[in-house]
Amino acid sequence: MTSTSEMCDIEQREEILLAPYAFRSEATRGRRYPEARHPYRGPFQRDRDRIIHCAAFRRLSEKMQVFTAEFGNYHRTRLTHTMEVVGIARTMGRSLALNEEMIEAAALFHDIGHPPFGHAGEGTLDALLLEDGGFDHNRQALRIAEKLERRYADFPGLNLSREILEGQAFKFEKDRTPLLEIQIVDMADSVAYDTHDVDDAMEMGLLRTDQLLVTSLWKHSANRIKARWTDLDDDLFRQLVVRDLIDIQVGDILEATRSRIHDAGITSAEEAREWPILVAPSPDIAEQKAEVETFLFRQVYRHPKVMRHRNRVTAWIETIFEHYCRESRLLPRRYESILRIEGERRAVADFIADQTDRSARMEALRTDRSGMPRSPMEKLF
Ligand code: MG
Repeated sequence: MTSTSEMCDIEQREEILLAPYAFRSEATRGRRYPEARHPYRGPFQRDRDRIIHCAAFRRLSEKMQVFTAEFGNYHRTRLTHTMEVVGIARTMGRSLALNEEMIEAAALFHDIGHPPFGHAGEGTLDALLLEDGGFDHNRQALRIAEKLERRYADFPGLNLSREILEGQAFKFEKDRTPLLEIQIVDMADSVAYDTHDVDDAMEMGLLRTDQLLVTSLWKHSANRIKARWTDLDDDLFRQLVVRDLIDIQVGDILEATRSRIHDAGITSAEEAREWPILVAPSPDIAEQKAEVETFLFRQVYRHPKVMRHRNRVTAWIETIFEHYCRESRLLPRRYESILRIEGERRAVADFIADQTDRSARMEALRTDRSGMPRSPMEKLF
């Protein structure tokens, strides 16, 4: 089969499957470095494969979402969080007949710029780079995709489709409403962490089921489960509630989004961008989600155990940063051009952002001269 007829297959497939307001792969604005069409993969399938095969994606497996290995072995990592987001986003995208391949690529990409130790690591790097443009995981994702990954002979980075890069840039620029596919990924991210952070926190004993009953979203699901089953043990009860919570949110988002698209009379992907965000829950569920997020912030993200860990990792990142700024010649060779062009502070930040939780911890213990505990088995709590 020739490449043209294969591409026609993709276009025909999309014509049959996609809604008028979905983004058509043939409408892509291409890549910064032009490349010939692939014989049997569409542009976003290629993006997906490039993301999955890059080093930054693999490192997500050893980067924390909220909890590290010191807390136990049940919790989500940045990688499993990403896979939950991909799953929820594809489900929603398929139900709305959006471009599922684009959604998959954008979801796989969305957290790729996170440094080790989640938001604690990010906050520390941002403070250290205060006078050098700061550090933001969404911007870092673009640095990875455009500069830091080296996998191709003809161009730096991954040379992803412009739509995927712009979707990521929206997260910090907020200049124009993104495509519906990108809105779906954002929403799926929020559904995923609101539910799995609660689940993880409970498994680790930071939260009790009854504490969460103060939030109406949780209470509603808990009552539905109790009405259907009696005599469930705590763990199974929690699992059923968590599943129900995802189901309720996804169902609500789909219904609310569908009627917004319908009421606005949107007939193309570009038209959707002339409106405010369309992929969102109903006002009622949005309020209940906000309540869960406030609860999570107070009870989990600011829990004394989490805060103690936060302080510890802040010191680790600062130690590595100071060490490599002093001894930038010790940076691996792949940071040489960043060092030369953008200076040592940015090169060191890129190096640190490339670390996993474990390798950052080992770097900190290796480079520290301030008498910090050196045993990797040191107790956190
Ligand atoms: Mg995320």
